[in-house]
Amino acid sequence: MFIEPFISIKNKKDKKGHIEVICGSMFSGKTEELIRRLNRALIAKQKVEIFKPSIDKRYHELDVVSHNENAIRSTPVNFAEDILLLAGDCDVVGIDEVQFFDNHIVHIANVLANGGKRVILAGLDMDFEGKAFEPMPQLLAIAEYVTKVHAICMKCGDLASYSYRLSDTKDKVMLGEKDSYEARCRKCFYEEKN
Ligand SMILES: [Zn+2]
Repeated sequence: MFIEPFISIKNKKDKKGHIEVICGSMFSGKTEELIRRLNRALIAKQKVEIFKPSIDKRYHELDVVSHNENAIRSTPVNFAEDILLLAGDCDVVGIDEVQFFDNHIVHIANVLANGGKRVILAGLDMDFEGKAFEPMPQLLAIAEYVTKVHAICMKCGDLASYSYRLSDTKDKVMLGEKDSYEARCRKCFYEEKN
């Protein structure tokens, strides 16, 4: 389990920012892990702001909602740039579904961290074809701390890191999880894909 390198620093001028990335397939518990870290920061009386791309309208507009319904209020934004304006003087910035932002999010994450904020990003590292989901590879590269979480393969019960799409749609962005996707291990994913 991820242990925070530090939670709160009393002297604000000594504050150093950093970037954490939580990645994995669908059903791997990325959002739950993001919420766990943010809740701990809240207990430590840190100022926390949470954002997600407005493309993700699966559940409530204003909540980062994970599948176990452990919700935290979040602000939907259209562009990565908006996060800079809205983050204000908070200590911790959480961003969910970060794979749906364009590559500009890489710059934004650096600006936030260089400004002394703890930046926690959660997102899919691979698309339904098993290819890297931009901009995640770049975010993984610039992060100080990376956590890959795993789902359970719905075919064989092993650890899963692939999101298998049950329908034939080729659209990269297709939301509405449970009915359209299954978590798969490498073997089961490629057996069915080929
Ligand atoms: Zn499997």
